[in-house]
Amino acid sequence: MTSFLKKRFLVEPTNSGLYCSLGGFYIDPHRSVDKAVITHGHTDHARPNMKSYLTSRVGSRIVKERVGKKSKVEDLPYGQKLKIKDVIVSFHPSGHILGSSQVRIEHKGYVSVVTGDYKISKDNSCDSFELVKCHEFISESTFAKPFYRWPNPKEVFSKINSWWLNNTQKDVTSVIFAYALGKSQRVLCGLDSSIGAIGVHASVEKFNNYYREAGRPIPNTIKASINNKHMLVGNGIIIAPSSVRRSNWLNQFAPLSLSFASGWMLDKGNVGRKKVDKGFVLSDHADWSEILRTINYSGASRIGLVHGSTKLLADWLKKNTQLEIYEFRMNNVKRKKCDKRQMSFFKEFI
Ligand SMILES: [Zn+2]
Repeated sequence: MTSFLKKRFLVEPTNSGLYCSLGGFYIDPHRSVDKAVITHGHTDHARPNMKSYLTSRVGSRIVKERVGKKSKVEDLPYGQKLKIKDVIVSFHPSGHILGSSQVRIEHKGYVSVVTGDYKISKDNSCDSFELVKCHEFISESTFAKPFYRWPNPKEVFSKINSWWLNNTQKDVTSVIFAYALGKSQRVLCGLDSSIGAIGVHASVEKFNNYYREAGRPIPNTIKASINNKHMLVGNGIIIAPSSVRRSNWLNQFAPLSLSFASGWMLDKGNVGRKKVDKGFVLSDHADWSEILRTINYSGASRIGLVHGSTKLLADWLKKNTQLEIYEFRMNNVKRKKCDKRQMSFFKEFI
């Protein structure tokens, strides 16, 4: 390890986001910067007004859609290395949505990996998560609580299709609320299109096109509109963002059975809070055991934690491992080091 890295991470939290000073770039910055390396196209990661962008090749069109088509967006195929100042950068699939990446940064043989958002379970709508060995690993912590353990996605899709079939027998239109980018396409890839017509909101269809062009198995869909109403009412299914819940647009397809596809649906109280009839537990993030397993298998000895339940995860890791654990707080730029304690390691939890 160079003397620089004895004291610091290759990537550090700043008020503008994660910053790699040896490369002179930010990862998923939330303020305007000169060089932005983008992990994926969700709006909390790909923001407009950066002077230049670098992202994965498969995700670049989605990122452009987000940040403005006139923006300067360069891309790299997964695995291809690019020297930027004193570091070598490459993108590796994070299994979250189409084109989502972990960012691998190397300096004189020392390797840092920033996960962005990631999930481990299989998903036909995007490339599978790739385990990248590293010395320091900066992990998201969105669902980093022991409560969060995802059911088998195959079983979730079986429940979705049974619920849809059951609704057709009652002449009710099925509706699944899901994020327009990523979750909607994952749901679409799991639907049994022999049950009925699949209608989508325009915001979902916009991204479907990118998925189809990337060769992902999105089934045939129709625009959920007044012209196609007769194909959907009573036996079709509609995929839409939850923002349309109380709209006249949605009500034209009544009677409706409403559902929500999200990891947050594991908490059954959220089904009531979201005012839907059904919750399907389907997350695009790693659950508790997947986060622990990934940290373990990464081989890293220094762990940075961002987004979500960082404190709970940091406390657990400092109690149960000998890893160096840091909570990265972007807004007040705190890098808090935790104590090392006796290790009883991960076995019972993963
Ligand atoms: Zn995301």
